[in-house]
Amino acid sequence: MTSPAAERVNLLGLPRAELESFVAERHGAKPFRARQLMKWIYRRGASGFDEMTDLARDFRAQLGESARISVPQIVTCQVSADGTRKWMLRMDEAQGIETVFIPEPDRGTLCISSQVGCAMDCSFCATAQQGFNRNLGVAEIVGQVWLARRELAAAAAAGGPAAQVTNIVFMGMGEPLANLRNVVPAMRIFLDDLGYDLSRRRVTLSTSGLVPQIYRLAEECNVALAVSLHAPTDELRDQLVPINRKHPIAELLAACWHYIERQNGRSVTFEYVMLDGVNDRPEQARQLARLLRGRPAKLNLIPFNPFPGTRYRRSPDHAILRFRDILNEMGVIATIRRTRGDDIDAACGQLAGRVEDRVLVRLGSKLGGAASAAGAVR
Ligand code: SAH
Repeated sequence: MTSPAAERVNLLGLPRAELESFVAERHGAKPFRARQLMKWIYRRGASGFDEMTDLARDFRAQLGESARISVPQIVTCQVSADGTRKWMLRMDEAQGIETVFIPEPDRGTLCISSQVGCAMDCSFCATAQQGFNRNLGVAEIVGQVWLARRELAAAAAAGGPAAQVTNIVFMGMGEPLANLRNVVPAMRIFLDDLGYDLSRRRVTLSTSGLVPQIYRLAEECNVALAVSLHAPTDELRDQLVPINRKHPIAELLAACWHYIERQNGRSVTFEYVMLDGVNDRPEQARQLARLLRGRPAKLNLIPFNPFPGTRYRRSPDHAILRFRDILNEMGVIATIRRTRGDDIDAACGQLAGRVEDRVLVRLGSKLGGAASAAGAVR
């Protein structure tokens, strides 16, 4: 008889070193067994041991007793007119998270969540309205990629467009640096050649600006860094991104330049949500340019995605274009993120997930943010 699931170790989300220890300690198996398992789980998307035909039958039976491969359950899947897909995944009875896939001609970006809800309380973000519930575990983070790959393959097999996950961005729900303990092992699996084998430029962590954790990340994992700046002065940023009161802009930028130097990276992508009459004036573009010019920095301007109850409005197109032009003229590379998936509430800052009594209850907010997130990694 198989042991109850809770007593079996979920192999999804064990980075290579941990999987090697698991097979050695529990089964006296050699490290190459762990490598075989990784290929099955990540490359081939296996969810059971029986299909792992190059493992001895005995070993497969033993694994069935000691281990499992468990992925989150899909509650809903929506497909946007522009091909963007959004999945709501059940985390427990009451809570859900959202994962968004954004197809483009030359890439496929998966926007994943790192927490259920978020504690950062940014005033323009839908996720903030639901407050913080809990951190996602490693398997719940990696499981979003595992599921998206399976679903995309199934859609292609059913005659839909062939689409692959080529980039992963932590721009869904949650603050990834507040959950480094689980986010770092997940990123190791994304980068591992036996995992998803992505280059470090194709995995992007986006943060609202947890300065001490940026220094920690610099020592632990080498991925692309995106930072939600949103304002050129502390006075304004204090209101939009409250963590700024603890870690003001000068400290944040110093941490960013350190990260680039330590990781030998190219540049930090700064995200800047365009809010009508709040942070979109020409003078603010000039202040921003003075902060960033001559630095390894790119700016990604995100048209604000509204959600019910918000006090903000999206900047008009002419203001966004003028803002970009001023930055470019002053020598800072700035691009405008195309809004994707807003018809299914999958755009940047519109993500909110809650599952109750098996029905999805809208919190009156959208997962606003994910779709625009993808553009940041260009
Ligand atoms: N917590 C992380 C990652 C999640 S949000 C962070 O703050 O970076 C991904 C991006 O979407 C962030 O830059 C965020 O500021 C932006 N965003 C949030 N709400 C938005 C909205 N309503 N419209 C447009 N962008 C939004």
